[in-house]
Amino acid sequence: MVINEEASMPRSGIREMLGELCYGTGLLHVLQLGRAWLRRDLRILAYHRVLDLRDPNAFAFDLDLVSTSAAGLREQMQLLRRRFCPMSLGDVVAALDAGTRLPTNAVVVTFDDGYDDNYRVAYPILRELGVPATFFVSTNHIDSGRPFAYDWLMYMILHAPVRRLALPEVGLDVPMPFLRAERRQLASRVLRRMKGLDDAIQSSLISRLEHEWQMPREAGHPDCRPMSWDALREMRAAGFEIGSHGVRHCMLAQLPPAQLEAELVDSRNALERELGAPATLLSYPVGGDLAFDARVMEATMAAGYRAACSYICGTNRQFALNRYALNRLPVERAMGTGWFAAMLTLPELMGYPTVGRIGMVGQEAACSY
Ligand SMILES: [Zn+2]
Repeated sequence: MVINEEASMPRSGIREMLGELCYGTGLLHVLQLGRAWLRRDLRILAYHRVLDLRDPNAFAFDLDLVSTSAAGLREQMQLLRRRFCPMSLGDVVAALDAGTRLPTNAVVVTFDDGYDDNYRVAYPILRELGVPATFFVSTNHIDSGRPFAYDWLMYMILHAPVRRLALPEVGLDVPMPFLRAERRQLASRVLRRMKGLDDAIQSSLISRLEHEWQMPREAGHPDCRPMSWDALREMRAAGFEIGSHGVRHCMLAQLPPAQLEAELVDSRNALERELGAPATLLSYPVGGDLAFDARVMEATMAAGYRAACSYICGTNRQFALNRYALNRLPVERAMGTGWFAAMLTLPELMGYPTVGRIGMVGQEAACSY
């Protein structure tokens, strides 16, 4: 998931213009060849939702979770096939285990959370184009069909019939804006601040609002549904990887040891029970600096996972990477094909900023899910 100040507005600017310029002139291809000669690194793309939105402002949930449209994903995957070497995360792990070199321009495609548009929209495109991908799902949501908590909080703040938002847990007591765009910005602020709280306080804050505003998550919503186990079984049978994103989508570093272990082991067991195959890949829920640490990485290894993805922006040098803290490149709705291509070619310059592991604690970063 992604948080930013301009939640309702696609971001553009210098990176968008630079990306389109370099892409249009063919300069990117030359730069890509040069970079591949200088260094061999693994790029892992991070998507959440793939949706066509006629009117983004009218969307009832978190716009920043919409990574691209169906047409956008198709263009991006076609570009991967033309210019890069798409491979599965499982094959990357196998290469790491064997000590063999990854192909030049290796790219992995991943999806977090387990929204049903991954099955309805993304999966048919990936299957048609033959691009492998890993879908990280929170198993309790697949079991229950319940909406994701952070997205439901966004929904509640966008729609609550109240005049004031009082959240002492995050030090906020403000009038509820009238305009939806302003409510989106306020909800993003709440989400950012909430990420610094431990899991129990986060859960109780959301539950309190569900009760006070009479907007129970159990009611559900057609625009915020997780995938089903049947859908995941079909995707797995078609060759796609299904990994763990925890049981309840908790920030693992905010959990006491027993709950941390339960999130890792129970989600793995659920995947293996339902899909009938070993589950060895994990993506840390939220994935930023406050979501995982050395304790979480050790527990992840002890629970039997072979690799884990963060949501920290960057690439991974093959012989210097931490397989339990793999950097990724978040794909954002505002990215045109030029920016996307430029991000893959020059990730340090054109990647979308996320919470880093060093020097970012306490700051409100642009992107933190
Ligand atoms: Zn997530």
